[in-house]
Amino acid sequence: MKFCDPADVASHCARAALGMMDRHGVSAHPHNFTIWYSFVADRVPDLTAAINGVLKSGQKFTEEVCGDLYERHFGTAREEAELRRVGLRIEDAVARVIAHLATANQGAVEYGESLETFSGRLTEGPAINDLNGLIQNVLQETRVMVEVNRQLEEKLETSSSEIARLREDLDQLRKEATTDPLTGLANRKLFDVALRESALEAEDERKFLSLLMIDIDFFKQFNDSHGHMLGDQVLKLVARSISDCVKGKDTASRYGGEEFAVVLPDARLDHAIAVGESIRRSVAGRKVTNRRTGQVLGQVTLSVGVAEYEFGESLGAFVHRADEALYFAKRTGRNRVANQRDLSGPGVVFED
Ligand code: GH3
Ligand code: MG
Ligand code: MG
Repeated sequence: MKFCDPADVASHCARAALGMMDRHGVSAHPHNFTIWYSFVADRVPDLTAAINGVLKSGQKFTEEVCGDLYERHFGTAREEAELRRVGLRIEDAVARVIAHLATANQGAVEYGESLETFSGRLTEGPAINDLNGLIQNVLQETRVMVEVNRQLEEKLETSSSEIARLREDLDQLRKEATTDPLTGLANRKLFDVALRESALEAEDERKFLSLLMIDIDFFKQFNDSHGHMLGDQVLKLVARSISDCVKGKDTASRYGGEEFAVVLPDARLDHAIAVGESIRRSVAGRKVTNRRTGQVLGQVTLSVGVAEYEFGESLGAFVHRADEALYFAKRTGRNRVANQRDLSGPGVVFED
């Protein structure tokens, strides 16, 4: 298993987390530890902001507050409950279809038996008066059978539209589970899947694969000056600019907080740099305005790091290289796109 923090950093964060939990009277439950470790390591910016909010307001970290923090940032309980509920309803609908079919089958057996009786009586050579009665019976049985079939058709129709509706519910749930609610982009979970699948495909088919890591510059300052709500609007705007610059098979995602990542299958480094540049330019070229007051809030800029996948490398190493390029872009002035070539030190390279 690969851990995100080296052992010494993890040990420092763990001690700091336990210290803070103790100071705030938080019980040493594994869920609480997860929250406080992530806070100390600044792993999940939304969680950091939420805890800072609670600290600022002087509110206590009760079991309820901690439970809510865990559920919002790490929990899957709601999703799982919803999936279970839809799963049970599908099971129910299928059981009803089976029951309808069994009833219809019973009807068909009884109908078959009546016909057999009828044919038996025919071979006995019935009197003409009896024949009339027999035909009446068969007619009656046939009408019953037609009615049973009609009801069955109706019930199957209802069940099949119910199952179709449930399938839509499932699709919707699946979509919600992989979408970032604020920006509508893929969430971190889907990014991980897309990256893994794209790397497998690149390996299998010897194709190129590139990755962009994008981070909003000085976003804390923007929030501090204009408020978190306008900050959220900026996140949406940036997300839209990213979506507009990528193609169908690319996966644009919110990697976390004010960071975005784009998986670009079939893309060489230079193409990915060009995509990163078009995203950077489209955001930097706009003036952000408060729609309500008309006040111009200024320019928002992005720093972008670009890396190309190397066959056989781990996904962690790939993401790390794009991240390093991103931090190079930050260090060298922000509002720029840097790539893995910028990371190699001075020296000569032979290119074929
Ligand atoms: P840098 O240029 O070095 O990236 O500076 P920065 O201020 O953007 O970076 P820093 O990591 O110091 O701060 C990130 C900020 O992003 C802090 C946090 O409040 C903000 N942020 C993260 N998630 C959200 C969010 O969902 N909504 C809003 N409005 N702000 C967010
Ligand atoms: Mg950041
Ligand atoms: Mg930033």
